[in-house]
Amino acid sequence: MSLHKYNLKRNFDSTSEPKAEIGKSKKELVFVVQKHAASHLHYDFRLEMGGLLKSWAIPKGPSMSPSNKRLAIMVEDHPYSYKDFEGTIPEGNYGAGNVIVWDNGTYTLADYKNTDDFEDVLKSDLQNGHLSFILNGKKLKGEFTLVKLKTKEENTWLLIKSKDQYATEEDILQQYKSVLSNKTV
Ligand code: MN
Repeated sequence: MSLHKYNLKRNFDSTSEPKAEIGKSKKELVFVVQKHAASHLHYDFRLEMGGLLKSWAIPKGPSMSPSNKRLAIMVEDHPYSYKDFEGTIPEGNYGAGNVIVWDNGTYTLADYKNTDDFEDVLKSDLQNGHLSFILNGKKLKGEFTLVKLKTKEENTWLLIKSKDQYATEEDILQQYKSVLSNKTV
C-alpha cells in the first residue's frame, strides 16, 4: 500500500487534487463515491484502509440491486484527504474533468465484531480478493461484496449488492447531486 503511483500520475502545480499524505479517521472507517466526468463518465468507489483510500473505478456506477453485478477496476490508492475532493481537474492532467462527492459515509466489515484487528482482516480479505462490508452512506446502504475476477487482467473486480432490507431495483444513480454541495458534474 503506497501513494507512489498516485504521485507519479499527477503534477500538483496544475491540479488542485490533494497531495499524497497518510490520514486516518478517528473512529469508524469511511468510504466515498466520487462521480467523475473524465473522458468517460464513471464513479470512483473508495474504502479507507491503512491510512489511505483503496480505490475502484466503476464505469456504470454502483447499484442497489443484487442482480446488477458492476464491473469495478481497481486503480491506484488515493490519499485519505481525497475523500473530500470536489472540483475540476484541468485539461491536460490525468483524469481531467469534473468531480463531485456523490456519496459518503462510514463502513464496517460484514459479520465481524472484534474491532481490534479489524483492519488486518480487511487487508487479508482484500488480498484474497473477496471483501464483504456494510455501507452506512447517504445513498448507499447495507451489505455489498467486492469480488476479484480470476482473469488475466490483474485489477478486475465486481461490486455486488447483497440481498438485505436495503436492496431495491430503484436506480440510485437518479440521485445525481453531490452530498457535500448539491453540485452536479
Ligand atoms: Mn476517476
